[in-house]
Amino acid sequence: MSNNTVQPIFILPEDTKRTTGREAQQNNIAAAKAVAQAVRTTLGPKGMDKMIVDSVGDVVVTNDGVTILKEMQIEHPAAKMVVEIAKTQEDLVGDGTTTAVVIAGELLKKAEELLEQNIHPTVLAKGYRLAEREAQHLLKTIARPITIQDKEMLRQIAMTAMTGKGAEANKENLADLLVVAVTRVLDRGMVDLDNIKVERVVGESTEKSELIEGIVLDKERVHSAMPSKIENAKVALLDAALEIKNTEIDAKIQITDPSQLTAFLDQEERTLREMVVKIKTSGANVVFCQRGIDDLAQHFLAKENILAARRVRKSDMEKLAKATGAKIISSWKELSSTDLGFAGIVREEKVGEEQMLFIEKCTNPKAVTLLVRGGTEHVADEIKRAVADALGDLATAIRDGFVVAGAGAVEMEIARGLRQYARTLSGREQLAVQAFAETLEVIPRTLAENAGLDPIDVLTKLRSAHDQQQVWAGIDVFSGEVMDAWSQGVLEPLKVKTLALKSATEVAEMILRIDDVIMGGGQKRQPLPSPGAGLEGM
Ligand code: ADP
Ligand code: MG
Repeated sequence: MSNNTVQPIFILPEDTKRTTGREAQQNNIAAAKAVAQAVRTTLGPKGMDKMIVDSVGDVVVTNDGVTILKEMQIEHPAAKMVVEIAKTQEDLVGDGTTTAVVIAGELLKKAEELLEQNIHPTVLAKGYRLAEREAQHLLKTIARPITIQDKEMLRQIAMTAMTGKGAEANKENLADLLVVAVTRVLDRGMVDLDNIKVERVVGESTEKSELIEGIVLDKERVHSAMPSKIENAKVALLDAALEIKNTEIDAKIQITDPSQLTAFLDQEERTLREMVVKIKTSGANVVFCQRGIDDLAQHFLAKENILAARRVRKSDMEKLAKATGAKIISSWKELSSTDLGFAGIVREEKVGEEQMLFIEKCTNPKAVTLLVRGGTEHVADEIKRAVADALGDLATAIRDGFVVAGAGAVEMEIARGLRQYARTLSGREQLAVQAFAETLEVIPRTLAENAGLDPIDVLTKLRSAHDQQQVWAGIDVFSGEVMDAWSQGVLEPLKVKTLALKSATEVAEMILRIDDVIMGGGQKRQPLPSPGAGLEGM
């Protein structure tokens, strides 16, 4: 025992949690794998759904990777980084969220095995990067072009996106509507999805879904004495309350005699009347208000034969502005005739169980609404999500101009190419590239597992088909046999695959490079950067 015991030096606050080295790495990898594990059973046409119940008892039933992860409220920092890639995938291409997460999880699982063989994480990370670059290159060489003219291919893309989702039973019908929708809003070769509103209707069968030229709002007019139909509508969009109450300021008034009260009420009534007069003189006969409308104001508006709806969602206000050419005004005092938009017809109609407002024959004919119907709220919501995925795929395919075939075909082909590429490398990088190739096979393997097939059997068959130059050999999840995924119409936009690979590799690399996790407990004053911080807004 030596006398000069070293005083420990504390450089971090007392309640800081810190893990380092292999432990930190294992911990992060385990968390990332857990995220992938959570969604992998939902992958593909035979994937299962999940039911997520939140703290207030609201239930979501879904097959959609990103929805599951968002609802799960994941907290582990490394796990959050993986959830981020699903969100990026959702925002940029609208589909392939499960794929991206499953690949990221598998990359890390394979990495773990190599780390145990004492391959340094940075060598691994470099190998993964090389593999990813080569994979992107291979993807480009096998992808085939697509344009808006290729209606049948577009239909197949939409159907592939909806396969195995709530929309499955009506995917043909819905795919037709979606292709018409994107064709309708096409502008200089681009599809702006802001022009396609998806509104769900509860209480009818999905096959009755329809495409409306114009905008449909899940709203009714505020007062039954208002006209239920207006032709040549001059539309005002107000982001201001047609009310007196100012809830932000708590005012007290002291009234000492009854005449003061009358005067006060008269004053209120006068202001409300003034609002309506202002609207009337602007020439508007339809008002969409983002906030509330006072009962008395409703009455005055009805008297002037003005149709009004209140508490219209902000996103809908923006769509209405785009469709009718109206300007959203934030104070009623500023409203003038030049701010108004136009719609050939605005009418209220009962759809399913609800009254809805139809705004049709708008200035901008590019605005369309897909009325998605479903028997119950949960069904309609899940169909809406599947439709959103399909729309994302269509817009992406048209924008990017390339398609590949799914059902595991594209992943198997890239894996084959990567194995060849690996042979040109030496030593440890070769191992990393091989691991990357094996990782890609997680997609067909999971498709097979989820379909109750023997994954080893399926992968063996697929490998041999690809070795015989059958580029689009994929798995028929119904028979377990190899099929030509291209001729079977299992098509997906190239971009969905390239983005999934890119973000999965990036996140795996980032997690591999972390060997120190410092979590600053309650120290709010100087927040320590969480390992997830670098990915925020990726
Ligand atoms: P993601 O969130 O990644 O889009 P999905 O549950 O939508 O996950 O599943 C997508 C996978 O299912 C893709 O790999 C796709 O190729 C595959 N797939 C879709 N339709 C079929 C089909 N008819 N046969 C086999 N695989 C299919
Ligand atoms: Mg999908």
